[in-house]
Amino acid sequence: MPTALITGATAGIGEACVHAFADAGWNVVATGRREDRLAKLQRDNVRTLAFDIRDEAARDAALDSLPEDFRGIDLLVNNAGLALGLEPAQQASLANWKTMIDTNVVALASITHKLLPMLVERKGAIINLSSVAANYPYPGGNVYAATKAFVRQLSLDLRADLHGTGVRVTSIEPGMVETEFTLVRTGSQETSDKLYGGVNPMTAEDIAETILWVATLPPHLNINTLELMPVNQSWQGFAVHREG
Ligand code: NAP
Repeated sequence: MPTALITGATAGIGEACVHAFADAGWNVVATGRREDRLAKLQRDNVRTLAFDIRDEAARDAALDSLPEDFRGIDLLVNNAGLALGLEPAQQASLANWKTMIDTNVVALASITHKLLPMLVERKGAIINLSSVAANYPYPGGNVYAATKAFVRQLSLDLRADLHGTGVRVTSIEPGMVETEFTLVRTGSQETSDKLYGGVNPMTAEDIAETILWVATLPPHLNINTLELMPVNQSWQGFAVHREG
């Protein structure tokens, strides 16, 4: 069976992906920082690795510790990521901006760079978690949205470079999925509950099933980008400011 490495597996979409892929018989390498959460994912075909995705030395040591039969990665699911804050750019925290860039951009690029030779050798696949935030600006999106635009564009450009290798690359671009995302972003469970309340948002399982579907398509098919939203989320028009 193929092996999937899923980052950000301690919560939300990543955790749901671990269950979906393991249920489908894949070997899974599940990563994240919270060891207590990782411990709950243990099963015969799942191995867990605790490290901060921004720490390249810790990441490499963890990957080197994998048993032989989990070392060959066929699918990299670049899911670990976060948003911090919803303030307008002119009031936002620079530290938050740097954390988002280091996690969503630098760490994602770094682990992709590390695994690319193996993915080419194995004719594997990369599935990146971008967002609708990459495609539609919104107030307070600023650097988070920009990091997700990077993820989308890197996915498309990887396709160009990987031409002829058989490696598939997909950018998954969800709208509202109820996970710990908004709790992490705002620090408030109440704000999170309010945001998703009455929306009937997508679930982590919805996205995991989509990712599994993408990963198990016939090898001649590549989904380039896939945007999903709950039915109750759509768009509003342009904002117009009137002077005086
Ligand atoms: P979540 O429930 O907060 O899960 C985020 C995961 O990322 C956690 O497992 C967390 O693990 C991991 N992570 C964050 N920083 C990390 C770090 N420095 N090192 C290692 N792991 C780290 O959020 P989610 O909604 O499932 O988000 C998953 C991905 O989907 C993100 O890239 C997000 O941008 C994207 N997305 C989410 C939505 C949405 O509405 N929820 C919409 C579009 C896109 P630890 O904290 O244990 O390290």
